[in-house]
Amino acid sequence: MLVSVKQISQARDAGFGPGTVGKTCPARDGRPATHLPGTIAGNPPGPRRSPAAHPGPGTAGRPTHRPGQGRIGVVPELPEVESLAIFLRERAVGQIIDWAASATFAVLKTYQPDLSVLTGREITGAARHGKFLDLVIMPVAGVPVASGPAGELHLITHLARAGWLRWRDDLPDKPPRPDKSPLAFRLRLEGGSGFDLTEAGTRKRLAVYLVEDPAQVPGIASLGPDPLADSFTAETLAGLLAGRRTQIKGVLRDQKIIAGIGNAYSDEVLHAAKMSPFKLAASLTPDEVAGLYTAMRSSLKEAVARSAGLAAGELKAEKKAGLRVHGRAGEPCPVCGDTVREVSFADSALQYCPTCQTGGKPLADRRMSRLLK
Ligand SMILES: [Zn+2]
Repeated sequence: MLVSVKQISQARDAGFGPGTVGKTCPARDGRPATHLPGTIAGNPPGPRRSPAAHPGPGTAGRPTHRPGQGRIGVVPELPEVESLAIFLRERAVGQIIDWAASATFAVLKTYQPDLSVLTGREITGAARHGKFLDLVIMPVAGVPVASGPAGELHLITHLARAGWLRWRDDLPDKPPRPDKSPLAFRLRLEGGSGFDLTEAGTRKRLAVYLVEDPAQVPGIASLGPDPLADSFTAETLAGLLAGRRTQIKGVLRDQKIIAGIGNAYSDEVLHAAKMSPFKLAASLTPDEVAGLYTAMRSSLKEAVARSAGLAAGELKAEKKAGLRVHGRAGEPCPVCGDTVREVSFADSALQYCPTCQTGGKPLADRRMSRLLK
């Protein structure tokens, strides 16, 4: 059965767009959970980085008066989604779905099959494709399906910039209402546990897809290779960068080139690689590509390892604590002690350490220069 995709509201996310290459998610072993409280309180909608909170002229590239940590927008990227997949493998796999419902029509991006077909089916796996979370769902063996496809289904979520998964051992037995609450989607399991998908802020971009094949989701079909896959080598990276006359920061964030890295981890990877975010991808020497590869793998693996065993509600705080330069303009670089600086764009900002990454020279911040004229 073909699935019609209603709309791709996340078009601004580089991961979305038409594509033809289907990707499969690399299977990765989750570490044994060390901390799984009986009741996991999800984070309340956290402070979201709104344009109003964006630093104005005068803060870019110099110490800010506000502590940087408060300004880190915790946008789920590869390590957080990987951790959510590991978490769901431990909590949801093997359980039967009672029902699933979305709060508004806009959350669900697919028409067919309907969410009602999920009732009575079993969650058999949880995977990640880039920044997409994938619940694998199968009919229970020996039980004929009441409606919908008889084979495998995938309930796929993209949390966008302000979405989150909140697990509850005692989930209310009523569907979410289309009101102003951050609750966007609810999936209840037989026995009463389950999860809510929440989204803070007014720009609702969280997306849920119910498909028979993950490649039916356009943002997944167009994903580049996964940087944590065993098959992703330094040569893979060299091939992806060759000939690209674009800045390395943008290349790392482009989901069609490399899957799963966003604004925060691209800052972290470049800091670990001691590389300017503005360096042209095509200009990297083989040694620089090798250094970038090592930095990318270690930064992402460390982030996944740090959050292994944490409950879904604790991942945001873990991400904030683990970042070295992202969102930390004005704070000392943990490596050299120089002041972390920032370059602002219309709806985002990057942070870097001049001593570690740009030979001590601050990068031009066009936005600031324009505003100061
Ligand atoms: Zn430094």
